[in-house]
Amino acid sequence: MTGHRKAEVHLVRLPARADAEQLAGAARGLWRAMRLERIVGRGALVAVKQHFGEEGSPNYLPAAVARTIGACVREAGGKPFATDSNTLYNGRRANAVDHLELARRHGFSHETLGFPVIIADGLKGEGQLALDGEGPVLEKVFLAGAGSLADAAIVLTHVTGHMAAGMGGSIKNVAMGFAGRAGKLQQHHDAEPIFSSGRCKACGRCARHCPTAAVTVKEYAVLDAARCIGCGECYAFCPHGAVSFDWSATSEGLQRKMAEYCRAFHAEKDGRAAYMNFVTCVTRNCDCMGESEEGLPDLGVLGALDPVAADAAALDLLNRREGRDVFGDFWPQCDARVQLAHGERIGLGTTRYELIETPAAATMRCPQKGGA
Ligand code: SF4
Ligand code: SF4
Repeated sequence: MTGHRKAEVHLVRLPARADAEQLAGAARGLWRAMRLERIVGRGALVAVKQHFGEEGSPNYLPAAVARTIGACVREAGGKPFATDSNTLYNGRRANAVDHLELARRHGFSHETLGFPVIIADGLKGEGQLALDGEGPVLEKVFLAGAGSLADAAIVLTHVTGHMAAGMGGSIKNVAMGFAGRAGKLQQHHDAEPIFSSGRCKACGRCARHCPTAAVTVKEYAVLDAARCIGCGECYAFCPHGAVSFDWSATSEGLQRKMAEYCRAFHAEKDGRAAYMNFVTCVTRNCDCMGESEEGLPDLGVLGALDPVAADAAALDLLNRREGRDVFGDFWPQCDARVQLAHGERIGLGTTRYELIETPAAATMRCPQKGGA
């Protein structure tokens, strides 16, 4: 999708603090406006991709949204399954057993959704398929098996800031969320943290959270670069600002790889993937951080068949409403438009779009945000 053509991006506007029912209604409204039954064949296995929420982080999309989209898939003759992949970092989503337990506590289970929940990359991230890369940076990509093999996909994304990519929208949701473990490592591997011995208080939190035992702490933290996978856990957990990255190098490299991962996924789906960006409660950090953060007022939900256009519209609309560069203010060291520009360059999509406002649709009465 390149050249001068504009992508269609549909928008359902929301009040400043939408509840679960309103979010689900917006998703159904987008489904209708985009006529997404077109991408669901009879009997098709349809991935409903979303983040099930990290422990302590309440801002993930409520289960009511996935349930509603799953019902739409069923009405169109498809077989939905809710899915996400395991994380690289230590947390409650690092393996399928813990991940499914946490998902169930957050309202995502076969009983509450009415369809199965499947961890896309197996017990510990090993369930992945190697594909040829679709861009100039990566020769191979490693997609999570269930994401790669699904006949169609509806990607549900809570748009947030992100410490390494600046912004996390549909491109990042697919790139990280539908990468197997090798794929996540591959996307992060340029990033190597810099430890400041002057600032370090030797508290040991970085070492405790490091997934590869790459940090030793005696008088101060010392990195074993050969073991480091560049996941950023040490940065995220250091309470004293003693860990940093060469952001200008790592953010751009990461974002280009993200776009190439999304391109590989998008090409595999061959027109049978749709992207919904929830520009709601936008926070500085992504939902993986396990923290409660006050977000910006809700704006609306965007839907497109083009992930670049969906992300570009989310970024533009938010900036226009706030009258500032939101993600640039959150993360001055990152230029979040790198992922969009690279996505455009490699044929993933276009930053040129036509915005089409559409109403929400009535949906079944849904429980509270965050609940079942
Ligand atoms: S030292 Fe490397 S592997 Fe360990 S937490 Fe930091 S970035 Fe991740
Ligand atoms: S978390 Fe920060 S302060 Fe604590 S040991 Fe690691 S680098 Fe030092």
